[in-house]
Amino acid sequence: DAPAEKYEYQAEVSRLMDLIVHSLYSNKEVFLRELISNASDALDKLRFLSVTQPELLGGAGELDIRVQSDKDNGIITITDSGIGMTRQELVDCLGTIAQSGTAKFLKSMKESKDSGSDNNLIGQFGVGFYSAFLVSDRVVVSTKSPKSDKQYVWEGEANAGSYTIREETDSEKLIPRGTRLTLYLKHDDKGFAHPEKIQKLLKNYSQFVSFPIYTWEEKGLTKEVEVEDDPADAKKDGEDDTAEKKKKKIKTIVEKYWEWELTNETKPLWLRNPKEVTTEEYNAFYKNTFNEYLEPLASTHFTTEGEVEFRSVLYVPAVAPTNEQMFAKTKNIRLYVKRVFISDDFDGELFPKYLSFVKGVVDSNDLPLNVSREILQESRIVRIMRKRLVRKAFDMILGISLSENKEDYDKFWDNFGKNIKLGCLEDRENHKRIAPLLRFFSSQAEEDMISLDEYVENMKPEQKDIYYIASDNVTSAKNAPFVERLVEKDFEVLFLVDPIDEVAIQNLKSYKEKNFVDISKEDLDLGDKNEEKEKEFQQEFGKTCDWIKKRLGDKVASVQISNRLSSSPCVLAAGKFGWSANMERLMKAQQM
Ligand code: ADP
Ligand code: MG
Repeated sequence: DAPAEKYEYQAEVSRLMDLIVHSLYSNKEVFLRELISNASDALDKLRFLSVTQPELLGGAGELDIRVQSDKDNGIITITDSGIGMTRQELVDCLGTIAQSGTAKFLKSMKESKDSGSDNNLIGQFGVGFYSAFLVSDRVVVSTKSPKSDKQYVWEGEANAGSYTIREETDSEKLIPRGTRLTLYLKHDDKGFAHPEKIQKLLKNYSQFVSFPIYTWEEKGLTKEVEVEDDPADAKKDGEDDTAEKKKKKIKTIVEKYWEWELTNETKPLWLRNPKEVTTEEYNAFYKNTFNEYLEPLASTHFTTEGEVEFRSVLYVPAVAPTNEQMFAKTKNIRLYVKRVFISDDFDGELFPKYLSFVKGVVDSNDLPLNVSREILQESRIVRIMRKRLVRKAFDMILGISLSENKEDYDKFWDNFGKNIKLGCLEDRENHKRIAPLLRFFSSQAEEDMISLDEYVENMKPEQKDIYYIASDNVTSAKNAPFVERLVEKDFEVLFLVDPIDEVAIQNLKSYKEKNFVDISKEDLDLGDKNEEKEKEFQQEFGKTCDWIKKRLGDKVASVQISNRLSSSPCVLAAGKFGWSANMERLMKAQQM
């Protein structure tokens, strides 16, 4: 045997292993999902590379995953014919935590300890490869990369701070390509090695893996044999005792044998007919693909034909990204070309940033398999795809807002309202789609927000414009003197209380041909001007205005007589072209 070399785990891995072995007990079964998903990733990588380097396939069999279990000895082996790992990759991948998912898990684990919530988190994040130690005392990874002519064996134990790597020398154990994981289950977890248990878990967790998964199963060869009916039975059935003896045929197992059985449907969900896919299947696909824990708020599945052909399934998640995730790379859109997984790194090319919360898969027949970011950025096809994807995303969101279940849209707005408002600033082209999704408080809706459609419906016949006032909160908006007259006239006023609201509205300019009008600005015209009366007032108070202007000097631009108040004597209004008071406050805050 080649000598085994010993390596120490990176500190984070040791910590993670410790956690896995000593404190994560619930949801152990996720180990299978994690290991199958690694096998599937390895196959994806190989398939992708083989497009330009067909020799990588080396004539060595199918791209598949095989799971074999030995229930008597508590051993599970998972073999994939994927990309495998070199010696260095074994050290880099299985001895350190390079990937963000697991690192994120560790962090949340720490946070949840502080907040005292349970360790259900593992279901949410998974801990990748190391979840093998949820159920195993010992794990052996034997792997062959096309980049190396040698096969290597990584071996680790649940309670050790180190692992070993050696060269595979046993010719019986050599594989042409890929990775074979052998799990030696802990005494109490040997139940996982029952083929039926494995099948059940695979059905549950891995139904959307796009490579065939086979399990090694025991079958019985049956044969029909004729036997004589027992007369005692016939009697029981109330039949005539004297009737001639009957013969009957039964099946008996004459020979047992083992066979690889396909356990998953490999046709990708998005290639199926939307009419034949259930909501449960869409939701399960979402949870599997994006490692999500909660069901999505909505989904949409569509095919576009004609100029550009692609298929897609999109989702709106039920939770907002954390602040941290907001700025991290999202990996929310998985791009396929002709069913080959290309990358989850191109969201930015397929969706505008403000819609980056949308998750989904996109499969195109028109892009080249060796597509890169540069190609995407230049591509006319991608521009068309992007347009369609955005439209479909808006349709899906509008669908939530029209749903009977009002809470769904409340949830959506809580989570992603800011994104939609950003859309007003960033995506002029889609203003028509964005505007109906907006929600605001108003003088007549201080608790539940309203839509612009509701506002317009509630407009008085003589009312021309949509009125708004920007403020810190509903109470201060309500108490602003500007609002008095409008309330008196029963005109509704939108209360823009989120800092971004005002800019968003200003970008929209109008909705259904009605202009947005800031009631805190000069020249507010409520359509009830009375020239006679104004002249009268001008004569009576003109001098007073001049005097006040003199006293205030440069502090104000002008002092005017106005009909906009009902009980307050005066109000400080913003100039028509200047910033509103709210905006000034915001600008000041930003300068600090
Ligand atoms: P992740 O899959 O999120 O990257 P994991 O902990 O599951 O994290 O796996 C770590 C890395 O180990 C993978 O990124 C991959 O490079 C490597 N790896 C794990 N399993 C396999 C496998 N079956 N074949 C090839 N590489 C693998
Ligand atoms: Mg993984």
